[in-house]
Amino acid sequence: MAIKNAYLNNVYQDLAGRYADQKEFLQAVQEVLTSLEPVFERRPELEEMGIIERLVEPERSLLFRVSWVDDRGKIQVNRGYRVQFSTSIGPSKGGLRFHPSVNLSVIKFLGFEQIFKNSLTGLPMGGGKGGSDFDPKGKSNNEIMRFCQSFMIELQRHIGPDTDVPAGDMGVGSREIGYMFGQYKRIRNEFSGVLTGKDPSSGGSLARPEATGFGLCYFTQEMLQERNTSFQGKRVVISGSGNVATYANQKATQLGAKVVAMSDSNGYIVDENGIDYRTIQLIKEVKRERIKTYVDYVPTAKYVEDPRGIWTVPCDIALPCATQNELPIEGARALKENGCIAVAEGANMPTTLEATKYLQDNGILFGPAKAANAGGVAVSGLEMSQNSMRMPWSFEEVDEHLKKIMVNIYHNIDKAAKDYGAPGNLVMGANIAGFEKVCQAMIWQGVSF
Ligand code: GLU
Repeated sequence: MAIKNAYLNNVYQDLAGRYADQKEFLQAVQEVLTSLEPVFERRPELEEMGIIERLVEPERSLLFRVSWVDDRGKIQVNRGYRVQFSTSIGPSKGGLRFHPSVNLSVIKFLGFEQIFKNSLTGLPMGGGKGGSDFDPKGKSNNEIMRFCQSFMIELQRHIGPDTDVPAGDMGVGSREIGYMFGQYKRIRNEFSGVLTGKDPSSGGSLARPEATGFGLCYFTQEMLQERNTSFQGKRVVISGSGNVATYANQKATQLGAKVVAMSDSNGYIVDENGIDYRTIQLIKEVKRERIKTYVDYVPTAKYVEDPRGIWTVPCDIALPCATQNELPIEGARALKENGCIAVAEGANMPTTLEATKYLQDNGILFGPAKAANAGGVAVSGLEMSQNSMRMPWSFEEVDEHLKKIMVNIYHNIDKAAKDYGAPGNLVMGANIAGFEKVCQAMIWQGVSF
């Protein structure tokens, strides 16, 4: 995918030279800059302002040592990251990922995406991301607690409810947020909304655990309506089995669909009777087992040890909810051959650039992550509001807000795509609509970073 606009291409080439080893970050930037071409054709004066040169360089990148003691008394060392990418429209906001694949490139790609995603929610949140290459798999509860506490000893000096507000992501759920929140409170002597995804006992928003998965389905439902159809009676394939995938299953099922396949990093399960999200929750969240054990609970299900193979399971709607670049061109072709009509991304950047283009060129509805999975961070924004007001809302109130936000996002990005001559191209629509507000704020605030 070549960038035709000379200015945008120059900025990209410069970046690609400087950060040649940051593959994921460059992939995310390339997609956004390609989408912004029609904006720069229409507004060449933006070139003078160095908007893109500023936007692709994080305001602040932190890299720190996290040392902790394992259960055998051995000292372990991991790397901690926090990239505060943009505070143009609000305090930087975005999750923390604990996974061995975490490095600066992955955190920068996620932080960059977060700028546009957060902008699309319509709430005042800038973009950021953080995490560690710590692998929570196989660690005891005490090890997780000690790691989280050590991680927060350094992170606490860089964050705050009006500065930077982290939350969860892969490997960081309510338990980890709790240990980090407790440590922040002890060190700073401050009970505040510095993290989101908290337990409701400590200021967390109801419906936050459900938000990304539910929001993904609200968005997809709106997108399907464009083709005068809905989830009703559809076969759905969902990759992943974490928080996003589980609640996407619940909502899709509630909306009348049947979820026939789900996966983890080892393999996938298929059940023609529909996969019960509560069993997935029991296996993954309570027992912390592999998805393979689903067949012990539900004998009609089949397990296949090939996580990428999930895209060959015939479906009408595919929701990639596992991780980046998990849906390559071969998967996109299999989906098309089996009659899939819509793909919406629950994970961040799960579809490769090549696969995205293939799906779009073949008339498959495509909901990009920035828009489709924005429900999680949107409810994080609502959690910040509730914390500032010191006034919690009911589940129904939050869910109602979430639904409105997702429906709005769909119509805003659909409109942006039409306004810029690319009707139906929601990738372009999302990047343009997300960019416009951030760009306006950058111009209005002058050159300070
Ligand atoms: N990690 C989630 C995301 O990718 C949520 C971030 C948040 O709630 O701040 O958007």
